[in-house]
Amino acid sequence: MDKILEVKDLNVIFHIFKADVQAVRGVNFELNKGETLAIVGESGSGKSVTSKAIMGLIPNPPGEITKGSSILFEGKDLVNYTEKQMEKVRGKEISMIFQDPMTALNPTMKIGKQIMEGLVKHQGMSKQDARNRAIELLKLVGIPKPEQRVDEYPHQFSGGMRQRVVIAIALACNPKILIADEPTTALDVTIQAQILDLMRDLQKKTGTAIVLITHDLGVVANMAQRVAVMYGGKVVETGLIDEIFYNPKHPYTWGLLSSMPKLHAKMDKLLAIPGSPPDLADPPKGCPFAARCPYAMKVCTNHMPEYTELSATQKAACWLLDERAPKVAPPETIGV
Ligand code: SF4
Ligand code: MG
Repeated sequence: MDKILEVKDLNVIFHIFKADVQAVRGVNFELNKGETLAIVGESGSGKSVTSKAIMGLIPNPPGEITKGSSILFEGKDLVNYTEKQMEKVRGKEISMIFQDPMTALNPTMKIGKQIMEGLVKHQGMSKQDARNRAIELLKLVGIPKPEQRVDEYPHQFSGGMRQRVVIAIALACNPKILIADEPTTALDVTIQAQILDLMRDLQKKTGTAIVLITHDLGVVANMAQRVAVMYGGKVVETGLIDEIFYNPKHPYTWGLLSSMPKLHAKMDKLLAIPGSPPDLADPPKGCPFAARCPYAMKVCTNHMPEYTELSATQKAACWLLDERAPKVAPPETIGV
């Protein structure tokens, strides 16, 4: 497969007061052309920081992408790009949509103008052409009466319609990569499904590769071909969708799958993973999940587990996968 993005040993630190918060600690993954990769994990796992790093949106200070990190986009390392160079990538080659459409839109500007901005800036379109293209884009994302609505303000749109506008802006310049950070979390369930359908449709039409950031495994199952599971600033397991759902190997992935609502399951039966994520201002020396892991062994707290390759496409970092470890079966609550 054709790689379009390769994140290699990405480390992001935030220097806050006297603490150094190690938000992302040695993250590696790749994205192939046209595919959807889901990054899943709880809040604080480093998934949003990872996506901001790709967009060149880590504020420095207090943030710092440390030496040795690389983010290769079509072979070029974005970590070395100046802000001026990044401006040419952002919105044009790589676009991002955020969780809350209200923060992404300018409330004082007509939505048509907001879509036109990128087209005029990146593609040198005339105002008239950009306006026509904005109307086309509104139609593409399923906004009725686009000729009229192009001249309306964000507050005149419902939450779901606003997120459609945000998607139109993100896709305006035909980006090669779309990063969607919890794109449907703020929306109600029916609208959520419509937006996800829309993203899938548009991907088929445009061939854009998507990095989908979410904590919702239901969304992952519907959208992605591959999954990276993050915990404590690290990718703890990665694999094809079937590998992660039917043959997960990391206890944190087991926990995530067990806490996923099942069809017909009663809410009170849902299992959550007890405990809280590690303090990344003082990250554990060993496995980041050790304090919450029901299978933790002595070695786990003191030594970081290496990745074990489970197939050409799946790997996990857990001491249970060491041949000397006791054999442990995943809990029976896992299943989709
Ligand atoms: Fe649990 Fe140890 Fe595996 Fe970490 S390395 S997930 S603590 S068994
Ligand atoms: Mg987040």
